[in-house]
Amino acid sequence: MATLQVTKGTPTQRAAGGTPTGMGGSFRLLRLLGFDIYIHWSWLIIALLSTWSLATDYLPDSYPGWTAQQRWLAGAITSLLFFGSVLAHELSHSVVARRRGVPVRNITLFIFGGVSALGGEPRGARDEFWIAIVGPLTSFAAGALFAAIWLVARAQDVTGVAAVAGYLAYINVAVGIFNLLPGFPLDGGRVLRSLVWGANRDMLAATRVAANAGRLVAALLIGLGILSLFGQGGFGGVWFIFIGWFLWNAAENSYQQLLVENRLAGLTVGQLAEPAATRVPPDATLRQLVHEYILPRNQRAFFVGPAAGEVLGLVTLSDLREEPEERWDTTTVSRAITPRERLVTVTPETEATEALRLMAEHTINQLPVVAGRDFVGLLTRAALIRALQFREQIGGRRTSADILVPHAEGTSAAASP
Ligand SMILES: [Zn+2]
Repeated sequence: MATLQVTKGTPTQRAAGGTPTGMGGSFRLLRLLGFDIYIHWSWLIIALLSTWSLATDYLPDSYPGWTAQQRWLAGAITSLLFFGSVLAHELSHSVVARRRGVPVRNITLFIFGGVSALGGEPRGARDEFWIAIVGPLTSFAAGALFAAIWLVARAQDVTGVAAVAGYLAYINVAVGIFNLLPGFPLDGGRVLRSLVWGANRDMLAATRVAANAGRLVAALLIGLGILSLFGQGGFGGVWFIFIGWFLWNAAENSYQQLLVENRLAGLTVGQLAEPAATRVPPDATLRQLVHEYILPRNQRAFFVGPAAGEVLGLVTLSDLREEPEERWDTTTVSRAITPRERLVTVTPETEATEALRLMAEHTINQLPVVAGRDFVGLLTRAALIRALQFREQIGGRRTSADILVPHAEGTSAAASP
């Protein structure tokens, strides 16, 4: 499944810590057309599975005369070319997105296919339409190319090439069709959203329609998977259930994320952060931290440093929990802190939505606010939640509580296997 995913923030902010893809467990493979291409570990599972199924199932049926070595080699080459095709599909999304002014952060290949991480939503319905539709079109073009190779190879009696090309023609067309299913975040769901968006000029309402269609498609896939478990489906059934489950979550998350972004739109860190007036001296013990700072002030994080002079770092309730209580009298705060150079920070001008995303990405509950070299405040998750609840009451809509549960993937997506 190839996914278009929206995550916000500049590369520098992302480089401030954590995984540069936003998807933990990925490594950078190469840079292509100006995009960083990452591989997630789960991709290796599907690469092995597809090689194995080609070598032991598809190829022996079609070419019974082949040796095991020939089958495994052809299986591996086919798998590689298939993932090359998925990469081409993703690249097409990314190239069109960049051309239409939507920044692209990277492309990651993972177990369900690929993800193009976009740095924002398209500005208009027309941009959305072209960014989404180009992916399936690319898959169809790849399918046509491999079909042509298959025809030529078959006419020339080159069975090896015909075997590989025939399979790739079929799989690319299947990928193109699957991704045109009209459920957000599949490409087809994005196309649907762009059409509704263009008609009613309301992106949020269009997303709601497309996300509901996405959940319907997901439920159908899961149902189909369960049915085929009772039939002959076996592994295929399990696969459908997994993909359906992934889609269901992605549809749900993308809509919720958009809702939250809509609520927080226009708010900056400076409007929500609390001034960090109190500093804990570095030589205070952890027990003093608890009894003289955390409990009386009902606050979970403090800057550490001499009253006058530079901040050394941040100490939080989570740091405290890592130290056994019997050592609280002897351990000083300076040994439990996160030093300033390792802190993920924001500025007063950072958008609240970006701050929320950083907290989720790094699984942290607060962000120090810096202006130049000075630490000027602390933005807490609690402050963000208060702002959300406040705006929810004014807006009169309900927000589900688990929005703020960290999702390493902030998702607003369009998918393809
Ligand atoms: Zn796609």
